[in-house]
Amino acid sequence: MRKRLVAGNWKMYKTPTEARMWFRDLVAKLPQTQAEPALLVPFTHLPYAAEILEGHGVYWGAQDVSAHNEGAYTGEVSAKMLADLACKYTIVGHSERRSYHAESDALVAQKARRLLEHGIVPILCVGEPLEVREAGHHVEYTLRQLEGSLEGVHPPSASSLVIAYEPVWAIGTGKTATPEDAEAMHRAIRGWLAGRYSSDFADQLRILYGGSVKPDNATALFSQPNIDGGLVGGASLKLEDYIKLLLA
Ligand code: PEP
Repeated sequence: MRKRLVAGNWKMYKTPTEARMWFRDLVAKLPQTQAEPALLVPFTHLPYAAEILEGHGVYWGAQDVSAHNEGAYTGEVSAKMLADLACKYTIVGHSERRSYHAESDALVAQKARRLLEHGIVPILCVGEPLEVREAGHHVEYTLRQLEGSLEGVHPPSASSLVIAYEPVWAIGTGKTATPEDAEAMHRAIRGWLAGRYSSDFADQLRILYGGSVKPDNATALFSQPNIDGGLVGGASLKLEDYIKLLLA
């Protein structure tokens, strides 16, 4: 069975000091839940995550990684460094990186491979912009993006992979895909993965939905058969909301 994952993407919010207090609060208030909690935080917050969350069943990771292993790459952070901070997950291919930093599918695939080489699970984001959805080409667009972003990514290491379907028009906008529309895309993604790899591979892999997930819409989304949890931006910053999502 696929364990539900509720992954918070903090983007560029909170200082390390605020994060430290938030992590302590979470550990104190963590409810009994069937869901797996994970927080994808700015690099500067990771040492605190490792110190405070370890042993509490809450996992952590980064929002990006260098495509290089090591070297003269000013400003970059490698998968090896993230592994040293015990990151379990790390996001690759978020739409904000694809659009503001012109990240291509090939670069995203390279980053995913670096993470897998260091035992970190990539949370690989794909999803269509509004004009593609309106033109009705969202399935082909998203599957093409997935194919390019998985270049050179193979089992067995790829078996741990997590995919996040995040329609760009739903991220941070308050607009959410309907549970039925999201489910249809998740089913298409799982079908494509079965063809590319195998049915067993596709069946065990978690596909998260992301795009304005909130406590009041999470239950309807997460109860769809092919939606295995969420990648959550805004609502993961408030502790009370994040806890509600873990219980959705
Ligand atoms: C995200 O950052 O991946 C995201 C889905 O953001 P939000 O939940 O705020 O739409």
